[in-house]
Amino acid sequence: MSDLKVTGVHKHYGAVHAVRGVDLEVPSGEFTVLVGPSGCGKSTLLRCIAGLEEVDGGTIEIGNKDVTWNRPRDRDVAMVFQSYALYPYMSVYENIAFGLRARKTAAAVIDKRVKETAAMLGIGALLQRRPRELSGGQRQRVAIGRAIVRDARLFLFDEPLSNLDAQLRDDMRIEIKRLHKELKRTMIYVTHDQIEAMTLADRIVLLRDGEIEQQGTPLDLFERPTTRFVAEFLGSPRMNFVPAEVSGRSVRLSEVVSFDLSQAPAGRAGAAVLVGIRPQHIVRARKSDSSPDRSVTIVADLVQVTGTRALVTFNLGPHTLIADLEVGSDCVPGSRIAIDFDMSRAIFVDPGSGRTISSR
Ligand code: ADP
Repeated sequence: MSDLKVTGVHKHYGAVHAVRGVDLEVPSGEFTVLVGPSGCGKSTLLRCIAGLEEVDGGTIEIGNKDVTWNRPRDRDVAMVFQSYALYPYMSVYENIAFGLRARKTAAAVIDKRVKETAAMLGIGALLQRRPRELSGGQRQRVAIGRAIVRDARLFLFDEPLSNLDAQLRDDMRIEIKRLHKELKRTMIYVTHDQIEAMTLADRIVLLRDGEIEQQGTPLDLFERPTTRFVAEFLGSPRMNFVPAEVSGRSVRLSEVVSFDLSQAPAGRAGAAVLVGIRPQHIVRARKSDSSPDRSVTIVADLVQVTGTRALVTFNLGPHTLIADLEVGSDCVPGSRIAIDFDMSRAIFVDPGSGRTISSR
């Protein structure tokens, strides 16, 4: 059963067409992440689902009920905002209890639920404090508590971690994942951060200019992107793209280096393509490699050492690429490093349309 069905939804703000005919179905219990660059319409779509924005076209069904014109409070949704939106003059307890009180829940039930929720979020000892007496991370826990204390059908998160520092964000990400595992509720989460999307989602919905560019499991999108846009959006550092020419089963990269392929991109013999290779799929050449002609010696330009890895920028003909290599004493600017391209992991993109021609 699907808890949410969005059909042909449009939203304009004056001349801006923020959401352009989105169709989306979210199965019960799934963690769906709406992700995409800033301004692609993900918050607007979430706010349309919540009822905080009126749609200009299309329908929204929650739990098989058409709620397109229902008020937010009549939609069976609970939302967590980036800004926390806590009541400053109320205690943590009262903030968490607020939604239950508004729904006239019995006092004993409220007390039990607030305490259970606070314990689950590790804020049980803070119930009498005011929001100003809490750290950012604690405030965000209260905001999450206020949402999950209710028995809503859909839990909506709008960039809930973007006000936190990096360490806290990593911790809270794990907490949210654990919460979803325990609560088994349907959650829809908006972020511009591809790491959050990859790590949290059962399913990623990647938006671009108000439309869905691709949706699927994180690995689906990562390994089988249908467009260059998706390939570049997921993964860090970004996937390298190099112009290449295919002839027969061989591909010539950047007019510099040729590879034989086990499988040439379909119907592309003699054609110009873009080859996409992730920095992690450029590896140090092994001396014992049975096909030494595949290795290329590069000259390291910029080197960013992250500890166990080194991000090495180098030129291939007129193009600049980046490789994510195992760190070594040769990871300094100007040094020569023998590398291999793992072409079995490469993707091929039509330079005109930006669509993937064939991937692994
Ligand atoms: P995202 O969440 O992906 O960053 P938004 O959904 O916030 O993107 O915005 C989508 C587009 O709609 C952007 O071009 C943004 O400037 C515009 N927009 C969003 N909210 C408003 C608003 N209240 N008034 C006018 N334009 C808006």
